[in-house]
Amino acid sequence: MLGRPMPKTFDKSFTQQEPLPDEAIRAAVQQLQSGRLHRYNTVDDELSEAALLEQEFATYMGQQYCLACASGGYALHIALLAAGLEEGQPVITNAFTLAPVPGAIYNAGGSLKLVEITAEYQVDLAHLKTLARESRGGFFLISHMRGHISDMEAIVEICGEHDLTLIEDCAHTMGARWNNRISGTFGKVACFSTQTYKHLNSGEGGLLTTDDPDIIARGILLSGSYMLYERHGTLPHNDIFDKIKLTTPNYSGRMDNLRAAILRPQLRRLDENCRRWNLLYERAEAALSKINRIALPERPPQEHHVGSSIQFRLDDGTPDEISRMITYCADKGVDIKWFGAGEPHGFTSSYDSWQYWQDLPDLPATRQVLATTLDLRLPLTFDVGDIDTIVEVIGEGIMQI
Ligand SMILES: *Cc1c(COP(=O)(O)O)cnc(C)c1O
Repeated sequence: MLGRPMPKTFDKSFTQQEPLPDEAIRAAVQQLQSGRLHRYNTVDDELSEAALLEQEFATYMGQQYCLACASGGYALHIALLAAGLEEGQPVITNAFTLAPVPGAIYNAGGSLKLVEITAEYQVDLAHLKTLARESRGGFFLISHMRGHISDMEAIVEICGEHDLTLIEDCAHTMGARWNNRISGTFGKVACFSTQTYKHLNSGEGGLLTTDDPDIIARGILLSGSYMLYERHGTLPHNDIFDKIKLTTPNYSGRMDNLRAAILRPQLRRLDENCRRWNLLYERAEAALSKINRIALPERPPQEHHVGSSIQFRLDDGTPDEISRMITYCADKGVDIKWFGAGEPHGFTSSYDSWQYWQDLPDLPATRQVLATTLDLRLPLTFDVGDIDTIVEVIGEGIMQI
């Protein structure tokens, strides 16, 4: 060991977000002073902060309609129901996603079908075709997990051929693009999360976007609009509500004006923040690629992702080696998440931990990819120097095993 410099210790938190912009803090204080925190508590024909957020996010997405609601998982639940899911209908989703996705399918009464992923973390199109054939209709809830976007033209085509309604979970692709088209505009509906660890931060929150007037009307009513739906920011024709307002249940999951008020200024900074994430990602990707034994996914040229996290593999690593490497890094302050860990901890993403579903399938390809997949969050409180330190620690960790 003599002569080799002691590896550094990293002392920043991987879960520390930036403070909210001053403009958001001022908007929050103003909202608190008004006392009108409920989205339907408006004066005269004032548009509430929640309604304004809906207008602004719909514009950002280039979509007709937006619904602001309680969480990303809630948006997925409402999206499935609003898009017409009936009890027991098949809903295909990626085997690699976060727990709220299968949870939303369960909550909406769908029947879960898991599709394999590739080593590039994209949907395995051949397996998708097989499931689509078996499903004969139903839904494909694609989750752009960790910002990896699949071949969307191919997916739209498969869904069209097999009569699958496409819904996009864009929790990790807010601000990303595929072939210059913004992620969330390929399917019937798209869902976003504004939970603290995503691209906009209101603690909790969800956004749903669509161009379909029937879907938005059902979504608004389901989210708990009572008969105050006309106070929403983006509205279809009133006749649609007249037809369904008494036959649509209220699943109370609205967004409040306080959260909307702090989201609006953040939305104006979203594209700039996406660029900042990508600077961190590119630095991490370049440095990790120089370490022996580390494999990085190849990103397709059509994809303009948002690098708010990075995935890499220790492809020939045994579970014991990976586990020792993670412990080494943790001791040096570098938090690495391992999707192949035996027991799920923290945020669960391993499909075999969703055991409330009967007969979970075995998905050997996904299991194999996840077995050696490691994951780093890249919060904007890090700078490129931090990335260099983190990667240095990882390099040391791999040399130790
Ligand atoms: C966070 C997340 C969600 C849902 O978000 P919540 O707002 O926490 O309900 C959905 N899908 C993925 C992939 C996520 O990471």
